[in-house]
Amino acid sequence: MAEVLEIKNEEKKLIQSAYRDLLRSIKSKMTDQDKIDLRNAYELAVESHAQQRRKSGEPYIMHPIAVAKICAEEIGLGPTAIVCALLHDVVEDTEVTLEQIRIMFNDKVAKIVDGLTKLDSAYSRNSPQAENFRKVLSTLIEDVRVVLIKMADRLHNMRTLGAMPRHKQLKIAAETSYIYAPLAHRLGLYQFKIEFLDLCMKITDPENYHGIAKKLAQTKRERESYVNQFIEPLKTKIKEELEDINISIYGRPKSIYSIWNKIRTKKVPFEEIYDLFAIRIILDVPSQKEKLLCWQVYSIVTDVHTPIPERLKDWITTPKSNGYESLHTTVIGPKGRYVEVQIRTERMNEIAERGFAAHWKYKGLNKQKDVYERWLDSVRDILEDPQSDAVEFLGDFRANNLFNEEVYVYTPKGDMQILPLGATALDFAFSIHTDLGYHCTSIKVNNKLVPMGYKLKNGDQLQIFTNKNQKPNENWLKMVTTGKAKSKIRSAMKEERRKEGLISREALERKLKNLKVDIESAIELLVKHYKYSSHIDLYYDIATDALCIPDIFKIFKADGNQLVEIEAEKPVNETVEDVVRPPKRVRKKNDLKPRLLINGEPAERFEYTLASCCNPVQGDQIFAFLTANAGLKIHRVNCPNATNLMANYGYRVMKAEWSSTTNSTFVADLKITGVDDGPGVIERLTNQISSNLKLNIRSFSISGNEGYYEGLISLLVTNTDQLNVAIQSLQNLNSVSTVTRLE
Ligand code: MN
Repeated sequence: MAEVLEIKNEEKKLIQSAYRDLLRSIKSKMTDQDKIDLRNAYELAVESHAQQRRKSGEPYIMHPIAVAKICAEEIGLGPTAIVCALLHDVVEDTEVTLEQIRIMFNDKVAKIVDGLTKLDSAYSRNSPQAENFRKVLSTLIEDVRVVLIKMADRLHNMRTLGAMPRHKQLKIAAETSYIYAPLAHRLGLYQFKIEFLDLCMKITDPENYHGIAKKLAQTKRERESYVNQFIEPLKTKIKEELEDINISIYGRPKSIYSIWNKIRTKKVPFEEIYDLFAIRIILDVPSQKEKLLCWQVYSIVTDVHTPIPERLKDWITTPKSNGYESLHTTVIGPKGRYVEVQIRTERMNEIAERGFAAHWKYKGLNKQKDVYERWLDSVRDILEDPQSDAVEFLGDFRANNLFNEEVYVYTPKGDMQILPLGATALDFAFSIHTDLGYHCTSIKVNNKLVPMGYKLKNGDQLQIFTNKNQKPNENWLKMVTTGKAKSKIRSAMKEERRKEGLISREALERKLKNLKVDIESAIELLVKHYKYSSHIDLYYDIATDALCIPDIFKIFKADGNQLVEIEAEKPVNETVEDVVRPPKRVRKKNDLKPRLLINGEPAERFEYTLASCCNPVQGDQIFAFLTANAGLKIHRVNCPNATNLMANYGYRVMKAEWSSTTNSTFVADLKITGVDDGPGVIERLTNQISSNLKLNIRSFSISGNEGYYEGLISLLVTNTDQLNVAIQSLQNLNSVSTVTRLE
């Protein structure tokens, strides 16, 4: 008994000292009310978590206190957020209700805690990551603090992951590197991003992680002496020329993850990597002198050490879209080694390390447009347009909004627009205004007409031409890369399908009315029977003659006020077997399919289609993916969607392979661009394919503008070798500049 009491007292002391530590780490000013709230939050959390322990055995309350400390110390958040961090697991894990929190504190605190609870419950239900991510983003646009506290929560969990079983460690690490690290990058929380990636590597690749850590420790001395050798002459010269300015100069080691990345991508051993550190020069200067003084320091640096001009990066004049401002240059230091130097002010440094969180502090200081608010607007845009497929959404979002660098382009009036690198001219139209995108007919870049899919380059000036009769079509999806443009085009096409289906809807309903059956349940039955994902698709197929009304009523008849199938049908089971049963819908005759094995069985035994995102052909590495309502889809292993599908829905993936003995054909789409050097381009292309290569063309379209042409050819081939030969030989033609296989 006495022993138990002793442990209790020990723990009490531990908790109290952690709390005092937290109080000391708070940098912002607190009112008396703030202090009362904080004390109350602490006591409520201690009391309600009293019976819980972490996997490591320590009292659970140590976790919320640590998260609150990260919020205060490493993100610099204020009292409200610290209160919320202390309470972040209370509603989720204990008897305390949100209403109690609202009464004890206020609406704001209750709202943030609610956001945090919702995020957590989404995870515990094991829903797909894409759905979780959408939830994270929704809370992000409501109150940024929810996501910032969640980041701190995740960071503390990652730091203390050692006590978890291995499979849980791996799952949490995967989620962290997939969602939290990129989001931290996007929010400008660079320190968080770096630590996330390092901690993930420690779990997923411990051998290399510890190997590099050890080598870093062994070379530390040598590195420090080199840094001193580099810094000393700089310090002296800066003191001479800018005497009354406070400047700190130091060498900053790069993260283990980034060093490993370099070893992997550049294929050089650790010993040959010299930029294991960067030199950082931080100036304490008033805001109106920032730019001038940074450049002055730059000129001193390059007087002392020879610069490599093409390595100069000026993110002071044009900050990155996540707010990052800094002047980077690489110079040749002693012993001829390349050294990166980063020059910035205290303010820029705080933004560089704390991003979004620091940015509120300096809001209004700068004339420049608010980068975060602009980004939040674009997030809001995407969220407002909820697509049925969350995985697609996450893919688009990750690709365009998280890691990418950006490209700077201009409107005809000279207003700058920032788009993700790889964005196209059509993306630009959508980024300016949705209507401009919808009705875009042609685009001029620097006064020359370009295809809509033209990839933007820095400094391009764009002019969009519209016609109100123009509307998006499926091909447009291939010509955009931004999430916003994609989701706008998809929803426009959905609307288009709905409109086209209106007449057939009336016809079908008239027929059902005549039969005197309940229309709603009858249509539901048809949607289910023909395996459509929605009513819209049913009407659309009728409108486009893919399904005929008379055919429907060969299979269905009225029975009382219900529509029933003429032959008695087995009850529908939602099992895998059932979903992949051969379809009742008759396949279009021109659906040419090569022989395929799925899970070792002939593919004909399943309902399957070749995915249109990557058009797999014979010889490609493939896999089958069980969709929710369209049977199996065959994707290429290197399909851009493959990682997402496998990461999120691994349990729906099935093995697929081409059977070796076959001579059937498949369709491959090629995009050909080039310069139209007089008449006969079409003839030369078709001649090359039909006469020289003896391949069949399934369809061919070509369009041109001012000498530039773009052709789309669908070829029938039997394997990838044949396709590659075709691509090569087309590329060799004089009038052809690029040939690409469409994914
Ligand atoms: Mn937590």
